[in-house]
Amino acid sequence: MISRIDLRGGAVTDGVIDRDLLPRAELDVEAALEKVRPICEDVHHRGTAALIDYAEKFDGVTIDRVRVAPEAIERALAELDPAVRAALEESIRRARLVHREQRRTDKTVTVVPGGTVTERWVPVERVGLYVPGGNAVYPSSVVMNVVPAQEAGVSSLAVSSPPQAAFDGLPHPTILAACALLGVDEVYAAGGAQAIAMFAYGTDECRPAQLVTGPGNIWVAAAKRLLKGRIGIDAEAGPTEIAILADDTADAAHVAADLISQAEHDTLAAAVLVTPSEALAEAVEAELKTQVAATKHAERITEALAGRQSGIVLVDDIETGLKVVDAYAAEHLEIQTADASAVAARVRNAGAVFVGPYAPVSLGDYCAGSNHVLPTGGCACHSSGLSVQSFLRGIHVVDYSRDALADVTHHVVTLAEAEDLPAHGAALKARFDWKVPGKSA
Ligand code: NAD
Repeated sequence: MISRIDLRGGAVTDGVIDRDLLPRAELDVEAALEKVRPICEDVHHRGTAALIDYAEKFDGVTIDRVRVAPEAIERALAELDPAVRAALEESIRRARLVHREQRRTDKTVTVVPGGTVTERWVPVERVGLYVPGGNAVYPSSVVMNVVPAQEAGVSSLAVSSPPQAAFDGLPHPTILAACALLGVDEVYAAGGAQAIAMFAYGTDECRPAQLVTGPGNIWVAAAKRLLKGRIGIDAEAGPTEIAILADDTADAAHVAADLISQAEHDTLAAAVLVTPSEALAEAVEAELKTQVAATKHAERITEALAGRQSGIVLVDDIETGLKVVDAYAAEHLEIQTADASAVAARVRNAGAVFVGPYAPVSLGDYCAGSNHVLPTGGCACHSSGLSVQSFLRGIHVVDYSRDALADVTHHVVTLAEAEDLPAHGAALKARFDWKVPGKSA
């Protein structure tokens, strides 16, 4: 069911990996852009009426308002299974512990006597948080979006998640309950591209946001790409990926279970094992056959594992394996090798790294304390997952005295003239009785 890609015996030359040799989903976000453009324009012009129409078209529900009433949020919390409530509270507690430590403090640097630059960290004022809800519902994504935004000091938070036919067109009750546990009372029943457009343009029910974060399917990713600039976005967090770098010290049953756990998200989810061990590859293939059949979502998992985005990559050694996982830049990377900590410390590109046999990705999905909104599609080589930093802007505050400005005026004038922008220099000269370059009155 899962294909093999053999990179042994010279397929990797001079340590250079051709990324096209590696398994990856063919996600044509550019093509999806053409499909979401009219949806976003429609929401821009017709607002709530357009959102109601798309709820019917894509989610199969008839609704007459998009903003969720406060009573529905309160009811969801009152009716929440106590075990789910306890698990969510623990997830929130651990996420807060980690994210609180990410807060930045303002720093002032004295560049010269009388001349300082302060970097002030200021939260974005209003943020729209997208919580997926198509194939699966993700109350965990409420935690992963809301906790860093709150720890950053964002004052206005709105959550949107697709309306569910099984729940009278409301988002899933566990999502509503998670919002209530986190103190979020502004929730919308909108999914896909139309939800992102709602946050970007605003409607009569929803004030526009300055930043939208959160994972989602290809329509969500395309809308974020389309509207970027009008609004800020986090990294594109599309269909989930797991890569596992393992040697023959790894337990094949655990490796297979971890690959399956992420394939469960989506038929487009990617599950990739990179190993120098033929014996492990064979044992994992056998485990996949028996374990997949016993899972609830066997059909979805089988499709994800059989897709061109998944595979077992055979390499000559762990050294080459490290090059392969760096070239792949997985959203989630597990290291299940001898001396896993030392191997993990050498990884350059991954959304999050999970070290050794007792740190499976599922732990990070819910309760490690780390964030699970992570860059996919290779974006982990240039972007980070969601964090407090995603919700902050650093503002440079420049404060120079007369003397400090006078001392540097000749350099500014010289550089301005070198750029043929003499008015830049004139703005400084006007402040002094400018006579000789390098000397101020
Ligand atoms: P979703 O909420 O992202 O998308 C559902 C919405 O898609 C629907 O409400 C509908 O409006 C829209 N839609 C459906 N079909 C459409 C069509 N043909 N045209 C236009 N719009 C359409 O939920 P999902 O589909 O379950 O996807 C969630 C994704 O998020 C999965 O791929 C999962 O792997 C991923 N995920 C990623 C992370 C991460 O951090 N990278 C975390 C959690 C989930």
